[in-house]
Amino acid sequence: MSGLAAAHILQDAGYAVTLFEQEHNPGGRANTHKRDGFIFDPGAQYIKQGTPDSVSFITDRFSLPDLIDIAKPVWIFDGAGHIQEGDPIQNAEPKWNYRHGLCMLAKRMGEGLDIRFETHIAHVQQTHLGWNLYAAPDQLIRSFEYLLITLPAPAAGALIRASHLTDDLRPQICSALAAAHYHPLISVALGYRPRPINRPYYALVNTDRQHAVSWLAWEHEKAPERAPADTGLLIAQLASPYSAEHRDTPDADLLPEVVERVKTLIDEDLPFPFFTDIQRWPYALPSSKADAENLNALTMPHGLTFCGDAFVGGRVHLAIEHGIIVAGQFIALHAPA
Ligand SMILES: Cc1cc2nc3c(=O)[nH]c(=O)nc-3n(C[C@H](O)[C@H](O)[C@H](O)COP(=O)(O)OP(=O)(O)OC[C@H]3O[C@@H](n4cnc5c(N)ncnc54)[C@H](O)[C@@H]3O)c2cc1C
Repeated sequence: MSGLAAAHILQDAGYAVTLFEQEHNPGGRANTHKRDGFIFDPGAQYIKQGTPDSVSFITDRFSLPDLIDIAKPVWIFDGAGHIQEGDPIQNAEPKWNYRHGLCMLAKRMGEGLDIRFETHIAHVQQTHLGWNLYAAPDQLIRSFEYLLITLPAPAAGALIRASHLTDDLRPQICSALAAAHYHPLISVALGYRPRPINRPYYALVNTDRQHAVSWLAWEHEKAPERAPADTGLLIAQLASPYSAEHRDTPDADLLPEVVERVKTLIDEDLPFPFFTDIQRWPYALPSSKADAENLNALTMPHGLTFCGDAFVGGRVHLAIEHGIIVAGQFIALHAPA
């Protein structure tokens, strides 16, 4: 989302921009899966209202009739599984999503951009003319004058470590990026027939960080399109210590445990889900940030720039806003005197 936002600002200013995305669709962690009649968001759950810049992207420039504000509130629970009403102030704020999935925003923002999908950048090479991008050793993709890296910091660090940079930039960049640490997170989608009982809330969040489940959402509450009639879909996000501990636990062993934990938490006699989907995010949300100002001050004069949630916190609107800000700084630096 950060890269898409930055690309539009740069393109508006007259730059020819090409994006490289390793997946077959845009959106990164703000994406949607469509399987067996279910439409669900395995990463970001909804978008909060941010600054006028990100709000105008969502409600004006890239507006879609599909946009929804999730009506029901988020309630909270503690390590003992005690559920109670959430913060009314936070619940009064918009919780934006799209009937057909959060991916709709990325798809809309991808329109009019030159995006090369299914293209993993393995390493880059700094030359006296700019930057060479490689898919693998000796597999040059293309050369560019400037390079903007919009990956989670650990992935950006790995890319830089694998790359050839002049001017002794590499150790300084790696040390700046190392300040951002990310939590892993396992997201489990559970499809039920019949639909679980209706609740006064759309989702539950664990506030004392003492539960193995950090978030549980009734995904079918987002829109009727999200689940076939008579079925319902719950999304359970597992807390980072639990997700780290179970990083290598096979799905077949993890699932029954998660299903039991969900049943116990909501005290509902659910059958075993007839549909399941597990997404493992190695870098889900940053627990500490890196300093973009110092890093970009160092690298921008060399034609290399960084943006993304590593520098601002793990939220879609923050990633978009950072892309807009950093693209603006790039344009200002390279504007003719
Ligand atoms: C489980 C989960 C729940 C979340 N919940 C919320 C929420 O409810 N609300 C909210 O606002 N935010 C939430 N977030 C955080 C939010 O999704 C992120 O902060 C935001 O989407 C980050 O955007 P980004 O552009 O910085 O990075 P990313 O989305 O990570 O984008 C980076 C892109 O680079 C691509 N890529 C990586 N390496 C390479 C490579 N070598 N070559 C080519 N392409 C590459 C990736 O495929 C990806 O598309 C959640 C995240 C997760 C994982």
